[in-house]
Amino acid sequence: MLIDTHCHLDFAEFDEERDALIERAHQAGVRQMVTISTRVRKLDGLLAITEKYPSVFCSVGTHPNNANEELDIQADDLIRLANQHDKIVAIGEVGLDYFYDTQTPADQKTGLTRHIQAARETGLPLIIHSRSADEDMIEILTAESGKGAFPFILHCFSAGPELARVGIELGGYISFSGILTFPKSEELREIARTVPIDRLLVETDAPYLAPKRWRGKRNEPSYVVNTAEVLAECKGVSYAEMAKVSTDNALRIFSKMPRL
Ligand SMILES: [Zn+2]
Ligand SMILES: [Zn+2]
Repeated sequence: MLIDTHCHLDFAEFDEERDALIERAHQAGVRQMVTISTRVRKLDGLLAITEKYPSVFCSVGTHPNNANEELDIQADDLIRLANQHDKIVAIGEVGLDYFYDTQTPADQKTGLTRHIQAARETGLPLIIHSRSADEDMIEILTAESGKGAFPFILHCFSAGPELARVGIELGGYISFSGILTFPKSEELREIARTVPIDRLLVETDAPYLAPKRWRGKRNEPSYVVNTAEVLAECKGVSYAEMAKVSTDNALRIFSKMPRL
């Protein structure tokens, strides 16, 4: 079995066939999914999905590309919401995205530190989105961990080896998406080889970034199988072993999510 630790099932791309794609995920051995929040104001839609589908859990948070829309959301708001709902198992996604550059670094950092505080206080894992921001992310993770540890996941990892190294050192987990399977991603596979196997997770980030076997198609949770296959090759273990270990890892870091 596998867990897709990061997808966006509330996106309109899935409106017509949510039942079918969740069924396909189950058929492919993807037993549980975490659908990730990009705006706290859209949380009701996410929660409705988790209530309809027992195998789907969610997070609460503001994506860095939406940072300035939700500067009124405080750590206490995130904590209250997370404590109110059994199906909220993580904080985020939040982080720094200097690639799209639609938000100021200052606004993104404000959101990031508030979400870190919420992760620290709730013990729920922080879902970190970091793109073209390795240096600042290393600095913030190191400084904030110094004030008090918090569980975190570097999601859709596509950064350099130094961020991976620091993330591991600080107790974090590294989640790989379909990018790991692309022919040009040899550097990323080299990083994956260095990550301790008990810190590895797999995700789709669907509807984006379909892995190689389905490249160019709209992504969906069942496709996470391809990423797990490539990760197994990187680590020199069987697919069955990779599936088991990554699932155990996911249930350890998403400590509020029950094993189904
Ligand atoms: Zn992201
Ligand atoms: Zn995402």
